[in-house]
Order: sequence, then C-alpha cells, then structure tokens
Amino acid sequence: MAKKQFKSESKRLLDLMVNSIYTHKEIFLREIISNASDAIDKLCYISLTDDKVGLNRDDFKISINADRDKRTLTVSDNGIGMTAEELESNLGVIARSGSLQFKKDMGEKTEDIDIIGQFGVGFYSAFMVAEKVTVISRAYGQCDANMWISTGSDGYTITSCEKETVGTDIIMELKPDGEDENYSEFLEEHELHRIIKKYSDYIRWPIEMDVTKSRQVETDETDKDGNKKKVWEDYTETAVVNSRIPIWQRTKGEVSDEECMAFYKEKFFDMEDPVSVIRIAAEGAVTYKAMLFIPAKAPYDYYTREFKAGLQLYTSGVMIMEYCADLLPEHFRFVRGIVDSQDLSLNISREMLQHDRQLKVIASNLEKKIKAELKKLMESDFDKYVTFFKSFGLQLKYGILNGYGIHKDLLSDLILFYSPKAGKLIPIADYVKDMAEGQKYIYYACGESAQKLDKLPQAESVREKGYDILYLTEEVDEFVVRTLMKYEDKEFRSVNDDDLGLETEDEKKETEKLETENKDILDFVKESLGGKIAAAKISRKLKSHPVCLTTQGGVSLEMERYFASLQGGPTDAIKAERVLELNATHPVFKALKDTVSSDKDKAKKYAELLYGQSQLIAGVSLDDPAYFAGLISELMV
Ligand code: ADP
Repeated sequence: MAKKQFKSESKRLLDLMVNSIYTHKEIFLREIISNASDAIDKLCYISLTDDKVGLNRDDFKISINADRDKRTLTVSDNGIGMTAEELESNLGVIARSGSLQFKKDMGEKTEDIDIIGQFGVGFYSAFMVAEKVTVISRAYGQCDANMWISTGSDGYTITSCEKETVGTDIIMELKPDGEDENYSEFLEEHELHRIIKKYSDYIRWPIEMDVTKSRQVETDETDKDGNKKKVWEDYTETAVVNSRIPIWQRTKGEVSDEECMAFYKEKFFDMEDPVSVIRIAAEGAVTYKAMLFIPAKAPYDYYTREFKAGLQLYTSGVMIMEYCADLLPEHFRFVRGIVDSQDLSLNISREMLQHDRQLKVIASNLEKKIKAELKKLMESDFDKYVTFFKSFGLQLKYGILNGYGIHKDLLSDLILFYSPKAGKLIPIADYVKDMAEGQKYIYYACGESAQKLDKLPQAESVREKGYDILYLTEEVDEFVVRTLMKYEDKEFRSVNDDDLGLETEDEKKETEKLETENKDILDFVKESLGGKIAAAKISRKLKSHPVCLTTQGGVSLEMERYFASLQGGPTDAIKAERVLELNATHPVFKALKDTVSSDKDKAKKYAELLYGQSQLIAGVSLDDPAYFAGLISELMV
C-alpha cells in the first residue's frame, strides 16, 4: 500500500521537534496524555445526554503501559476515538498555521527558542522519542477500528482493524538509546511516574499504570517460637498515579492553611512557610485560578543570574510552562505560584498573540493582588512583613529605580527605612503621619550604620527640633529617595542639604551676615586645602560640633562611594563636590580666626586639621593619615 505523505510544512515542524534537545523530550507524554484527556472529555460530554455510550463518569480512564521487551510505551484512553477520516485529517497534517507562522516570524532563530518546552506541540511530539507510532482507534458510534502507522517524516498508512472498545491506543516504539539519549528510561516505572507527576498530575481523569509494591508474606519455615517466617515480596498492582484535583482548583474552604503551606514547600523546595498565600479565582476578560506564595526568605541565588523567576502556567490541569516570567513584573519576581486558565490553549498553534493578550491581563491583575497582599501583611503582621522586607526589600527598591521611577507609586508604600525615633524599620507613611506641626520635609541621612548616623553633626539641628530622621544604610537607598522625590506631597531632604527649612528669615539673614563678615577666613580655608573642597562656608546646621563635611551638586559622598565600588576603586569621573561647613559660634572658629591674622602657616595646618576631622566624622578615609596624625602630635608639644 502506498504511503501517504505529510504536508511539506508539517515535515519541517516534525524535523524541528525530532531534533530538539533531549531534555525537552519527556514532554511527549504530557501531550499524548492531554489528547487522551480531551478525547475522554468529549465522550463524557456526549454520555450526559446519550445512554448508548454505556459508560459512567467513573469508568473513564487513561492507561499507561510499558513493555520492556518490545520497547513500546502505550497510552490508551476510552474517549471518543477517531474515524479513518479523522485519523487522516487530524494526524496527517501538522499544518497548524499558528505554529508555522510562529516559526516564520522568528526566522532563523527558531532553533534556539524553547517552543517545545513552553507550549504544546501535540501528537507529533511522540516522534521525539519513538521511531514508529501506531494509533489504533475506534470512534464512538462505529463498529470497526482503524490503524494509523508512521515512522515519522516518510509518511503514514491507514488500514482497518479490530478493536473491542471505543477509544484510542497510541503505541510508541521507542528509538534505540544513543550516547547522550537514553530512551529506555521512558519504559521505567519510576521515570514514567515522575513525568506524569510533573506535568499531568492534575489531569482530571485517572491515569493508571502498573506499579511495583512490596508486601510481607508468610513462608513455610518457622522460627524458634514456632511462628511462620515472613519475607518481603514485590508485586505489581495497577494504581492511579495522578492526584487529579489540583489544590488551587479547590475552594478556600476545602483547603486548610497547613495544606497550602505543605504544598508550597514541596512544590517550590523551600524549608520555610511562606509569609503569605494569595488565592485568586477570577472571572471576566480571562477566567483563571491562581495560588501565589510570598516566600519568607530569599533563596541563596535570588540576587544572581541563576535565579529563575516566573509562575507555573497550567491550562486545565496540564503544566505548559514551568517559569512563566511574563506573568510577574520584575519588582515582584520573588513570588512563587501557579496560574491555571482554561482560556489558554495547550497548543502554540492557537495564536501566540492571543496568549500574549491573555497573559497581560492576568499579569496586571496579579500585580495588583500582590501589592494589596503585601500592604495587608504590613498592616496585620508587621513583624512578618519585616522578615519579608529583609529578604526582598532590595528587590522592591530596585523596582523603584527601574524605568526612571515608573513603578514608584505602586511600590513607595511598601518600602521601609530605619527610624531612630521608633528604633525600628518603619514605612514612610508612618514617618509622614508623625511629622511635627510645621515640619516641612522628610529628613534622611545616609551612612554605613545607624550607630554612625546617630552621631552625624549636620543632623544636630534637625534632631534638636525633635524631628525624626530616616536612616538610609543601603547603597541603593539614596537613589531610591531621589527617585521618589516626594511622599504624599512631602519632599525628602537630606540632612546634608544647605537649606533644611528650619531657620526663620531672621536667622537666615544672620548666617548671610556672618558669611560676608568672615569671607576672608573662608577663602583662606579653601585656599589652604588646595582644591580638596569646592567651598568652605558658615554652617547653618551645626550646634555643638565645630565642623562637618557636606556636599553640593547632585552627587553625595554615598553616591561617590557607590560608584567607586562599581568601578573597583575611586574615580574622578563621579566625584562629590565637598563642602567644609564651619560652626561660627564654636570656640575653635575663633581660634582659627585669630591664627589666620597672627600666623598663616599655623592657620593652614588648622584648616587641614578641621578638614581631616570632618572627613573622619563623615566616614570618609583620610587622604594622608600619617600626615594628619603628625598634625595632632604637633599640637601637643
Ligand atoms: P491538538 O490536540 O492541539 O489539537 P494534536 O496534534 O495533539 O493537536 O492532535 C490533533 C487532533 O487529533 C486532536 O485535536 C484530536 O482531534 C485528535 N486526537 C489526538 N489524540 C487523540 C485521542 N487520543 N483520541 C481522540 N482524538 C485524538
């Protein structure tokens, strides 16, 4: 009998699949099982109104059978079956315009793209593992059956045959094992079990296969007490291997918190309970169910390239993608979980674009839900939120910086900073709520640690007013605050800023007057330091300290340090413009002033001493520590 040929486009897709890398190949079973499940769905639907089907809901099943001697793996279902015409039209053509269109759109790059791992490729995936596929099918309502046989790209034959019951058997004769490819493992019980669990655990029909179990049996021998000796014996039993109803498909009332936690830990390999579980049952533009988890701790590789973000994507109980990154915005990439929508089809063929649109709708809903959940957690269990924030706060901060702050409105109320007044991390909203009457700004100070910031001289005047100061101790913090600019109409202001909004007009005038009066002293200091500072000026914020180091312009000392760390050392490219602020009411200032008129050489050393002091307090390393130490010794003798 003449072989029929596949359509030429089909051949190309077939080649692509057959030559795909080995690790992807296990999905063939998911595809075949999924087809069997669809076929049962169809017959089950008919059986609701048609007694002639003669099957109850409980009779439907999918059977997996491995024959190691013949090297065949058979997947049987008692679903609707296919007529000869259907075998011809369904299996004779892969001309799924969608998948081919996809291949064309991607041009030459297709080979690199994991289309097989990501979306279903249907029945033909059987050829990834089988050198010959036989389909024996008897359609519902027909007495005879048909056999479709193909060895892949060279075409197929269809002949009539016998089959006792309605349904389909897909018999795959596995390819011989190669150097890197061990097809025989698809005949091993534990491997089949693993693949079914991984991809098809939630297929609603039972998937049965023979499994090996052990039991104790009595022997004829007796022990010294006269009891019959027992030995362990392996036996085979047909068992259902899939769990059928996914936990996320059950209603909230049906699943306990403990079950959710246990499910999370097993599925996502975490030792700790998540801080939150989000359950969503959405209907509307896209109908889907989702079960999301917010982990308590970041996995060790979270902030590396190795970490794979994304949610597991299911359609009607079948996993189609293990890490669907499109479902999560970058700033919430720590979220784990599952999205299941019957609106998505298993087959890429059905319009990629359609998928895209549906995924976008889901993703934007999820983003809102995650935000709401985090907000809720913050309000209901702040300590737990802090645990979460310590792991993933950095991610949220990067989220604010990304795209020049396009997500800042979404993320700003999830950020915590340390408040010395509260003695703990607080949300910015709490700072604003507790702002004193007349307080203009949200003050912040940047530095290495809270202990160091507690002593920062330039914060004195703010502290004296009784205002709280947010401590920014992480490298990204200052960029975050500068990106936010405001929170609820209140501007952020660094304690380094020249204008802290604390002075009255009179006080301002007073400082200006002092600046003019002492112009020659300030010029002298600047000159003595020879280009190390951009300006010396009379401080408006110092109280008890004689000096402090601040900056002018856009780059702060912390930023300078951060950029230097990126470059692997200090650079001239991004440098803070240093300002040495002097406290005109401090006795040291008077001493400096007197020395400038009496002994210029000594006064120059005073200027250097003061600058060194300011650097030490600001946590900046000295340019020449030995020289500085020498200056101090000189003072003592
Ligand atoms: P898809 O399932 O996405 O349509 P496939 O290539 O997997 O693509 O299958 C093509 C068609 O063959 C199916 O739509 C279905 O009509 C038919 N088919 C495949 N497997 C079976 C089966 N076990 N029982 C009945 N029909 C089947």
